[in-house]
Amino acid sequence: MKKLINIISIFFLSFQTLSEVKELTILHTNDLHAHLFPRIAPWINESRKIGGFANLATLVKQEKQLNPNNILIDAGDYFSGPYISTLTKGEAVIQSMNFLGIDAACIGNHEFDHGWDNMLEQIKKANFPILNGNLFFEGTDQLVWDNPYLILERAGLKIGIIGLHGKFAFYDTINFKMTEGIEARDEEEYLRKYIEILKPKTDIIILAVHQGMPGRQSTIGLTDVERNLYKDILLAQNVPGVDIIVTGHAHQGTDKALVSNGTIIVSTNANATELGKLQIKYDTEKRRIVSHSNKLITIFDDEIEDDGDMLREINYWQDEVDQIAKVSVVSSTQKLVRAYGEESNMGNLFADAIEAFDEKIDIAVVNSGALRQDISAGIITKGDLISAFPFPNTVVITKLKGSQVVSIFNHAAGMTNGILQVSKNAKYSFYPGGSVKNIWINDELLNDNEEYWVAAPNFVTQGGDGYLEFKNSIEYFDSGVLIVDAAEEFLRRDPVYEPQYEGRVKILK
Ligand code: FE
Repeated sequence: MKKLINIISIFFLSFQTLSEVKELTILHTNDLHAHLFPRIAPWINESRKIGGFANLATLVKQEKQLNPNNILIDAGDYFSGPYISTLTKGEAVIQSMNFLGIDAACIGNHEFDHGWDNMLEQIKKANFPILNGNLFFEGTDQLVWDNPYLILERAGLKIGIIGLHGKFAFYDTINFKMTEGIEARDEEEYLRKYIEILKPKTDIIILAVHQGMPGRQSTIGLTDVERNLYKDILLAQNVPGVDIIVTGHAHQGTDKALVSNGTIIVSTNANATELGKLQIKYDTEKRRIVSHSNKLITIFDDEIEDDGDMLREINYWQDEVDQIAKVSVVSSTQKLVRAYGEESNMGNLFADAIEAFDEKIDIAVVNSGALRQDISAGIITKGDLISAFPFPNTVVITKLKGSQVVSIFNHAAGMTNGILQVSKNAKYSFYPGGSVKNIWINDELLNDNEEYWVAAPNFVTQGGDGYLEFKNSIEYFDSGVLIVDAAEEFLRRDPVYEPQYEGRVKILK
């Protein structure tokens, strides 16, 4: 009997020693959007600079030193933001991320901004694992990027990390030209599949996912955070077995992690303004996370020393970009000026450049708000064009009925978002704050029942600035060509450009 008690007590003793609470720190970022350098973000602080990769790299190093059992996960959308990304097709960002100490990242929609083939070319340069398990070459079982998950070991725990892209977000936000030949498949189905593989081999499962949508809709009874991360809440409800979701795309940060169906959900407010820090306690006997706390650390430039290696890298890329930006495109006889409520010679330039993109175009329009900086007379550089039109918008050609064109110009006349600048083959008259009176195309009055090819930046054709009528286009073709590139090609036709005011827009009283 005594022997049996001994055995039992030894059993319990050893069982007790087996039970342990382990701590793990999950550092997280999402939607870095190429913000390599610190900047003023007035909604956070009016005078102190925020963010930047050199500060972020230092902060990550500090946190990793303080918390030896750590992982840094990024939830996608590293590309597209300041033009350092556009001009290097994302390479400057990937190469700089190589100095961040990332342990796993997933792919976001903006990684496709220069095409899926470029996405592959760039992410091959990453020295950190990038994960995706539900983007396939169309009609095949071949993953576009064949690395769906990985297993890391920290504090003796096996941690499985899965990378996915929300199917809805994929089709909602990526220019279809850029993803021709590839398809996103249901994230829930693939998540279940990878959980099944990882469950027997791991203690903790983390999902890095880029999904959902920016918080635009209102659902009664939910807070903003819950509303904006609703897709993640639902995913956790529908697919049990994920311990932690690090999510991106909504640009919705939350200090307090959400918990849905036992899954902890975290995200930051994007653009490298903060580093997320989730700390968990894992009970090895209960085989689950028993407590957690999360916070977002705002990156104040004046509080953090630059990381030397990162600083060298981002400065190198800034110099490279400056080389591209300095390239001379054309010489202009006059200053190019913007206007919001009347015809502008800069508006005429960009509208003409879009109109010249395809000869079938009857009329090209540009939203006045897209033009952000005047250009002096003399040599115009590529950098000048990018500063004038800094958005990575593409040339879209649509087919519309005359009555739809009228509806679009009525919105322009309403002046809620500035008027439309038009190409040289068009003219219109309007009552400011009211409606359009006449539209002429090739010197003929527009016919309500005829069909016209209308070209515009994709921002406008996607309903931006309230131009919703484009959504009812009879035909819709996104060329994928950047407006700035179209403008450059247009200007390179002649060595000298003469900006014009031609009375294209007539203001009526
Ligand atoms: Fe996104």
